[in-house]
Amino acid sequence: MTVRLVADAVFTVDAEDTVWRPGAVEIDGGRITWVGDPELTPAGAGTDVQQLGGLLMPGLVNCHGHSPMTLVRSAGDGLPLDRWLSEAVWPREALHGDDDVFWGMTLGASEMLLNGITTTCEQYLHPAAVADAALASGIRCVLTPGVFDMPGIDPEGTWKEHLVEASRVFDEMDGRSGRLHVGFGPHAAYSLSPAGLSAVAEEAQRRGAMIQIHLAETEAEGHVVEERYGMRAPAFLASLGVLDGPVLAAHAVWLDEADMEVMAEYDVAVAHCPGSNGKLGSGVAKLAELRARGIRVGLGTDGPASNDDLHLWDEMRLAAILARATAADPAAISSAAALRLATRGGGEALGLPVGALEEGRPADIIRLRTDDARFVPATNEAELLGHLVWAGAGYLVTDVWVGGAPVVVESECVQIDSARARAEVGQRAQRLFAL
Ligand SMILES: [Zn+2]
Repeated sequence: MTVRLVADAVFTVDAEDTVWRPGAVEIDGGRITWVGDPELTPAGAGTDVQQLGGLLMPGLVNCHGHSPMTLVRSAGDGLPLDRWLSEAVWPREALHGDDDVFWGMTLGASEMLLNGITTTCEQYLHPAAVADAALASGIRCVLTPGVFDMPGIDPEGTWKEHLVEASRVFDEMDGRSGRLHVGFGPHAAYSLSPAGLSAVAEEAQRRGAMIQIHLAETEAEGHVVEERYGMRAPAFLASLGVLDGPVLAAHAVWLDEADMEVMAEYDVAVAHCPGSNGKLGSGVAKLAELRARGIRVGLGTDGPASNDDLHLWDEMRLAAILARATAADPAAISSAAALRLATRGGGEALGLPVGALEEGRPADIIRLRTDDARFVPATNEAELLGHLVWAGAGYLVTDVWVGGAPVVVESECVQIDSARARAEVGQRAQRLFAL
């Protein structure tokens, strides 16, 4: 049955940034079948017309997360990345079992959905548990199981075991429910041997799967890669064939001109994580330069131990503020471009047709209530856009659909028990923080 959602405003984030006021979106079979002015085009016979008011827009796209890290939220505050990983995060993660990760991801998915994130790209161990939790929650997930090679402090198993598990999860679960997309997640150029990186690339490319990898997150890790291999990380990965298939690079902070040329040449996309990079003191990615080179850029929350929430509204605002502040130029990024980063740009970075409300795309839609000080005044489209980008917030999200299915109704997750997820994670974290 066709469902027509009618609102006071619809931000489509299509190629022309079309806004309908009032607007309506029709969905059928999980896809958007029509978007337009409900007063000019009456609904067809038998259509279920829902008068929602408020504002409809595409669901937000989180391009980089380790959401089961809700279990270690806030761990290691004040440490730089290398010590944060080896002292605060990995020892605790080594204690995780599948059930811990399932509940950690369930809580993360609940937090994301309630704040309007409809797609998340995850990198973690225990991938089957992450997948099960994502599927149960109703969120759309690009899952890139982690592959590490850190003798002595490796969180669990060897890279060969991680790769076998990642391949198994791809072969058994990719495409499930039309919402689970499996890729491969070699952790980084410094945390996996050349043999491991090549092996992951081969398995991924054989399956046409995406690779997600941390790249140039800190200046120090860049020095490690250069000393070890005599090349900077992007060229090193290219030399191993890692960039020959679809690749999403998380962070991409410490890139020079030549590095960005390599990224553009191989069409490597970037998950820009300004909150995490700021909290860990890693630096500020060169958003304007990346965009100027035509590099696909989306936004990522990173894990909740380095951010510490899963609110893409904050990342959108921070990305735009840092781009304007570092350039000392209010035109460094427009408000429309900032909104695109959090939606359509994220879909492009992930290679998925999500992030815009257009006929034929998956019906991943969120509704915001506009009876809030943050949305006053609203005399024209530019004001509304400004409110979304510079004052938008997760608490304004009331309803969320993923693939046309309601997953948040009146600010409550309807497919999972958020209260139980909070209780499970709270309880399980006691064990991990007893270290
Ligand atoms: Zn990360």
